[in-house]
Amino acid sequence: MNRTSRLFWKLCGIEKMDNNQTNFPYNFNSSACKSCRGKCCRGLGGYVWLSMEELERIAETKNMDVAKFANKYARQVEGKLSLQERVINGEHFCCFFDMINSHCEIYEIRPKQCKAFPFWNQFKKDPKKLFLECPGVTFKPSI
Ligand code: SF4
Ligand code: SF4
Repeated sequence: MNRTSRLFWKLCGIEKMDNNQTNFPYNFNSSACKSCRGKCCRGLGGYVWLSMEELERIAETKNMDVAKFANKYARQVEGKLSLQERVINGEHFCCFFDMINSHCEIYEIRPKQCKAFPFWNQFKKDPKKLFLECPGVTFKPSI
């Protein structure tokens, strides 16, 4: 396994998202996710920010008490909520990454930050890192 090829730097602020994909210099084909084994959900460690509403919604879907859910799956970082990670053989995995089937266990209700990936503001002007990590992106043809 090549750890340096792993991403999981979910560091963008959820408040800084641009929902207009035409503003980005690349396209994204989600069919690449089927074979990439979740590069954006594992790797060197990072933060998957989630709002209180998102936390409550995921807890409800899992039929869990919100406080118990938060204790088990969330952590506080600089006053914000982030999902917990599992560390196996030095590699960090989001706590909702299914390592056997390589997919997100809460895909339909994953946090906004995950839904927005790979269209994060931090890649708009400089997508080099993204292209090294995400096999689903391709540059838009110049007009
Ligand atoms: S790294 Fe890209 S292709 Fe792979 S799962 Fe994430 S979004 Fe999909
Ligand atoms: S919540 Fe799902 S999509 Fe988001 S990092 Fe975790 S496993 Fe990946």
